Amino acid sequence: MTANKIPALYVHVPFCASICSYCDFSRQVYRAETADRWLTAIETELKARADGIRPETIYIGGGTPSCLPLPQLERLLSMLDPYTETVKEYTVECNPELRNKRVIECLASHQVNRISIGLQTADSSLLKTCGRRHDAADVKRLVDQFSACGISNISLDLMYGLPDQTMEQLEQSIAFALSCHPRHLSLYSLTIEPNSVFGKKGIQPADPDLEADMYERICSILKAHGYLHYEISNFALPGYESKHNTSTWEYRDFLGIGYGAWGMEDHYRYTHADTLHAYLDDQLYRNVTELTEKERMFEAVMMGLRLRSGISSKRFYDQFGIHLNACYPNTISALKARGLLAESDDRLFCTEQGWPVLNNLLVEFMEEAQL
Ligand code: SF4
Repeated sequence: MTANKIPALYVHVPFCASICSYCDFSRQVYRAETADRWLTAIETELKARADGIRPETIYIGGGTPSCLPLPQLERLLSMLDPYTETVKEYTVECNPELRNKRVIECLASHQVNRISIGLQTADSSLLKTCGRRHDAADVKRLVDQFSACGISNISLDLMYGLPDQTMEQLEQSIAFALSCHPRHLSLYSLTIEPNSVFGKKGIQPADPDLEADMYERICSILKAHGYLHYEISNFALPGYESKHNTSTWEYRDFLGIGYGAWGMEDHYRYTHADTLHAYLDDQLYRNVTELTEKERMFEAVMMGLRLRSGISSKRFYDQFGIHLNACYPNTISALKARGLLAESDDRLFCTEQGWPVLNNLLVEFMEEAQL
């Protein structure tokens, strides 16, 4: 794929005001001078890699993009202005501590039209345990501030399976989230990463049965409130499904800019330098993995079946020149016979029974592909 056909642009901001106890992402505590050098590096990489692209979506994630002070955020958004002409969805991740009205106005003035906010939980004691510095009221205030500036397409992140979290605490958090009227909700179950604060303290993951019950409870409440469960961990009011993430689940290419970002173009997946300082020295270094056709086909299945609507057989054929059913004949017919997969029109998708055990289904696809 030539660069100007890339449908999605992701920029990773590797700074946070403080570090959450569960986090193992590519990020570090914000420092003004490092951020200035990082912005210069981003400018260089954009000039070298993004020249002429006309993306449909831009996503600035992190890290915490909103921890950049106004002049630095303005500089970043100005660098991205040339790519906004064809953009339908422009998302920026913000943490609830954001209070500066001028930052919110700045985002709106640069065509940002979607905000993703990390609520995680509405419970103050759990937020403290997680090392988060906000409370639920900050989220409500921020949602209202964005709405007042014309950005009402808000997504909230919600976590479950937090240390000692009860079902009642979870239900209160869902009720609070719903009171903010988000257009979209993303769910994350707590994973204990060895290098996170939780990992180092030996915090144990939630009981798998409780975690499964929590997931089911969230699904049923959100469904009852009119949210479409359009991807395993994502819910949206009709018409507000994330275009950027859907592009990834449909296994389309995307350009990843900045230390901590990864991207995919043609047969290649890439990451950047291993550390921020290595990236500042050489922003054009790419750690490239070449994928075989078999690996790409499997990944397309793995990502596509995460969507409620599943995989388009036509798109699969256009991408790989082989019919999906011809690629995995035994697995697809066996899983259909067991009621775990279904086909309708052009699409292959998981049934209600198949979706919760998607990982097991993928093992069968993998075995047939002999990966
Ligand atoms: S979870 Fe998000 S806000 Fe918290 S440290 Fe990690 S990247 Fe930063």
